[in-house]
Amino acid sequence: MVEIERGKAAAKEIGARIIIGAGGGKVLDTARGVASDLMLPVVNCPTIASSDAPCSALSVVYTDEGVFEQYRIYGRNPDLVLVDTDVIAKSPARFLAAGMGDALATWFEAKVCASGGVKNMRGGASTRSALALAELCYRTLLADGFSAMNAVAAQQVTPALERIVEANTLLSGLGFESSGLAAAHAIHNGLTTAAATHRYMHGEKVAFGVVAQLMLESQPAAVVNEVLALSTSVGLPVTFAGVGLQQPGTEEIREIALRAMAPGETIHNEPFPIRLENVVDALIAANAAGETFCRSRC
Ligand SMILES: [Zn+2]
Repeated sequence: MVEIERGKAAAKEIGARIIIGAGGGKVLDTARGVASDLMLPVVNCPTIASSDAPCSALSVVYTDEGVFEQYRIYGRNPDLVLVDTDVIAKSPARFLAAGMGDALATWFEAKVCASGGVKNMRGGASTRSALALAELCYRTLLADGFSAMNAVAAQQVTPALERIVEANTLLSGLGFESSGLAAAHAIHNGLTTAAATHRYMHGEKVAFGVVAQLMLESQPAAVVNEVLALSTSVGLPVTFAGVGLQQPGTEEIREIALRAMAPGETIHNEPFPIRLENVVDALIAANAAGETFCRSRC
C-alpha cells in the first residue's frame, strides 16, 4: 500500500496519462493499484510468467509478514498486457514453474464454480468460453510444460515456451477471473499462515493446494496421478516439505485448514459442506500421495 501511494504521488507530479508496470508480480500489482486509484489506463509488462495476475483486475494483498490478507478488486482489467517471451526465456526457471502451478489450479477450480453455478470473481456467471479457456490451459500444461522448462533452462524461446507463457498469463488469467476459485487457492491462503512457507511462491503453494483439493473432492487416482506427474516433471511441490513444512504437527495443519476455510473463502465454492476434519485429512492425504508418488517416480 505504501508503494501504491508513492506511485500515485509520482504520477500526479508529472501529470501521467498512463501507468506502465514492468517487472514481477508486486510491480504489476502496484501499477494496477496506482492506475485504478487515479482512473488512468494501465499497461502490464510481466518480465516473469510466475502467476496469472497480469491480465486480471485484482491483486492479492498480503501483510508485511507474508500472510494472505485480501483480494483487492479493480474496476477494470489492464488495457494492455505485453509479454516478451525472449525476456521470459532468460528469467529463472522457478518463476515459470510457479506460473504453471497457478495455472494448474485454474481448470480444477473453474469446473467446481461452473458446475455449482457459483458467481465468478466479478460477481457474474461463468461462461462456456471461460471454461473452455480453463480446460485449454490445463491441456497446454500437460502437453508443453516439461518442454517449456527445458527451453527456459537453455534460455531459448521455443513454440512450447510461447504456449506456456500464454497458458500461465492469458488462459489462466481469463479462466480464473471469469469462472472463479475454489479449494486450491483457499488452501494456498491457509498455507501462508505458516511462516516456513513464505519463501515459496504463490504458484508453488497453489500447486500443493490443487493436490489437496483433489483429495478433498475424492477424485479418482488417475486424475491425481496425472496432476502429480505434471507437477513433479516441472519441479512443483507436491508435499508439505516441498512448501517448507518439515513434518508439521497436528496443530499447525489445523491452523492452515482453519484459515483455508475462513468465512467467505473460495473453498466454500466446493459442492459440499466444508468441515475442519475433512480439510485437515485432505492436507495430510495430499502430502502422503505426493510422498508416495515421489518415492516411486522421482
Ligand atoms: Zn493464483
